[in-house]
Formats: sequence, structure tokens, C-alpha cells
Amino acid sequence: MVTNKKDIRALTKEQLRDFFVKQGDKAFRGNQVYEWLWQKAAHTFDDMTNISKETRKMLEDNFVINHIEVDNMQRSNDGTIKNAVRLHDGLIVESVLIPTPTRTTACVSSQVGCSLDCKFCATARLKRMRNLNPDEIYDQVVAIDNESRHYHNRPLSNIVFMGMGEPLMNYNNVLKAIDKITSPEGLGMSSKRITLSTSGVPKMIKKMADDGVKFNLAVSLHSAIEEVRTSIMPFNETFPLDDLREALEYWYAKTKRKISYEYVVWNGINDTQKDIDALVKFCKYVPCKVNIIEYNPIDDGEYQQASSEALEQYIKTLEQHRIVVNVRRSRGKDIDAACGQLANKS
Ligand code: SF4
Repeated sequence: MVTNKKDIRALTKEQLRDFFVKQGDKAFRGNQVYEWLWQKAAHTFDDMTNISKETRKMLEDNFVINHIEVDNMQRSNDGTIKNAVRLHDGLIVESVLIPTPTRTTACVSSQVGCSLDCKFCATARLKRMRNLNPDEIYDQVVAIDNESRHYHNRPLSNIVFMGMGEPLMNYNNVLKAIDKITSPEGLGMSSKRITLSTSGVPKMIKKMADDGVKFNLAVSLHSAIEEVRTSIMPFNETFPLDDLREALEYWYAKTKRKISYEYVVWNGINDTQKDIDALVKFCKYVPCKVNIIEYNPIDDGEYQQASSEALEQYIKTLEQHRIVVNVRRSRGKDIDAACGQLANKS
């Protein structure tokens, strides 16, 4: 339900403390409420059992707690779970839990739709409606953590910002969400277990380095040849590879943290030796590893997974050049939860 009351989770802890002081109460009450809102992820004021009934009523009169609802949860044969998440204004985004024997990863969304237009991506077909608020990103993580504990008997171990949207186009809110996720007053997760995946916005990569962020950086590269990358990721015309390279060099100089390149190999698009050689050259600029990701066709169009011979050739060549390469088998394909498939189809 949409109301005119302010979302209480838009307030900082300091603002909450001030609010209580202005109400003639103790600042400490702000700490208690803050703990309920973030650490305990309360959905209603009535959940706040150590707060008096009068105070809860006063909060109810002044604020709302906008929280997400998991509208539809689908479970894949391989244990992957996809949530269609309803936001307070009725819009839907998707997030995914990906279990492996050693870890449970949440793939979360940062925008409703996407600002960018990658040709191979199902999300790109939804126009960008709005950015997610920090609490909406945080809540996706909480929901997946609960599902991980329930269905896989272990807490969430990793988070990737690789769902719907370009996280660097919603930078401030993504950072605020990560702040809450890593804070002892939130979920207390280590920032080393968080990866922000971007299609490569040079100015913002530099800003992250300047801001001293502690999480990992992944770049959806997909081609190190200008014309090829522009044909599959048209915004590459605005942010060309030289600018991306310079930003990544800046990132590494400041953070000393390796970059992961996400890379899909498509039939007839980037599956030649020339494409491989260009990637090898790009990988020499900054310490990195390459994740080759299995592609999940979103229709019967021009983007089809390359042959296993082409993938083998990529792997062999990268290894010959001592570049670390992993192959990521896609998970959750039967529920359209795999990489590039998130498009609110459920
Ligand atoms: S791949 Fe990522 S950045 Fe590109 S359109 Fe899809 S969601 Fe947006």
C-alpha cells in the first residue's frame, strides 16, 4: 500500500535518535528501534516487543516500514531458488539463491529494469523504471539468507550484484545497502564475500576506488575488441575499452584487488582466435581472472552458446598465458534464474 508517511528506514541511526529526543524520549530508544529495523529485519512496529505500546503507536502514526514481499518463489531441480520480489509500490524485481557444495550465493537486483541495453540480456528488454532503495536491496539479501537457512541448512555466504540493473547506475543506494549488509548492526557479513558486477562504467569504477570500497569488482567484459563489444553492449560506444582499461588500472593501483572478468562466448560473435587473443592482451593490463559463463538463450535469436571446442580453445589459450580461468556452469535454468535470464517472467 502506498502512503504519504515516511519510510522509517530512510532515516540514519542519528536521525532516529534525534527523532526520539524531539519526542521527549531518550536517544537510546532510537538505537533500539534501529536494531529492530536492520538487525532483526522487523516488518511491523508491533514486532518491536521491547518498545512500549504507546511508542509503537506513535511510530505507526508517523512512519511506515516499506518492506519487500516474496511474491513468488520457484525452486529449481539443482537447488537454485528464484524470488520474484514485490516492492512497496507494486513493482517486481528478481533475486536468486545459488547453492554449491561449498557456498550459498545471493544474486541481487539493484534497479527495476536496467538503464543499459546489452543485446543478450533479458533484463534489458524491460525499461528502467527506477532505482532500488538501500532497504529494498538489503531485504533481498535477508530473504535469501532465510531461504538458505531453511532449505540448505546454512547461512548465506556470498553476495553478487549481478541481478537486474547496473549497480553503478544506482551507486549511492548500493553502497548504503552494502554498508548495512556488512555492518555489525545489520547482517555483519564480510565485504570480502561481496562482489559488485558492472558492465563497466569507467567514471564510477574510479569513484569506487577513491571511496575505498572493500568489496570485490567484476566486469562483464564479453569482448576485448571495440566493434564486437559495441555490437553486443551498445553503451561501449560511450564508455570505450580504453577508458575501461584506464579505470581498471586506476582501481588496481588504489585497491590492489584483482578484477574478475565475466565472459560469455557466443557462436559466431566472439568465438574466434582473434577474440581470444584480444582477451589475453586485455588481461595483461591488470591482475585478473576470467570467469567463462555458460549462456542461457533468452530466445532463439542470434545469441547462442558457442561450441565446446571454442570454449576449450579459450581455456587452453588463457591457461597458456597463466591467466586464471574458471568455467561457471549455469544454474537454475529450468526456472529462468540463470545469468541474463531475469525478466519477471514468473
Ligand atoms: S547485462 Fe546487466 S547491465 Fe546489461 S542490460 Fe542486463 S542487467 Fe543491464
